[in-house]
Amino acid sequence: MTTEDRRAPAPDPGAPHMEHNDRLDLPESEWRARLDHDEFRVLRREATERPFTSALNREHRNGVFLCAGCGAELFRSDAKFESGTGWPSFFEPIAGAVDTKRDFKLIVPRTEYHCSRCGGHQGHVFSDGPAPTGLRYCNNGVALRFRPAPGSDRETRPNTPGRED
Ligand SMILES: [Zn+2]
Repeated sequence: MTTEDRRAPAPDPGAPHMEHNDRLDLPESEWRARLDHDEFRVLRREATERPFTSALNREHRNGVFLCAGCGAELFRSDAKFESGTGWPSFFEPIAGAVDTKRDFKLIVPRTEYHCSRCGGHQGHVFSDGPAPTGLRYCNNGVALRFRPAPGSDRETRPNTPGRED
């Protein structure tokens, strides 16, 4: 085994390719099969959903927000706040859950962030958020699933294969 092996294309495009750090690296055809049209456009094409369209804007129960692509836990409900922007907003992600990159799609550069496991685009982070971080993670609702904490009034079943912990 050499380091060359890691650059070799996956021999079976149908099999999820799990890398170190539990990364989920799927071919585009597989993402198209797993995601609906809007999810694919946001998660894999960095599209932005129209504001005030996500039911998660009004989600106020205790729980965890998961990546709609791979089920990774991205935000806790106690980090959610009302930004008035029309997108679910958080002042901090779960540690290590998202990675950022600079985004020059607009004239003013923005900081894009995405799920650190599957690379799925989630939204952009701005520096006008509330205490304690002063950050505003402006997230596409279609890129998230909500999993209520045990004892919450209503149970929704995210489309993810089981829990990890
Ligand atoms: Zn993900």
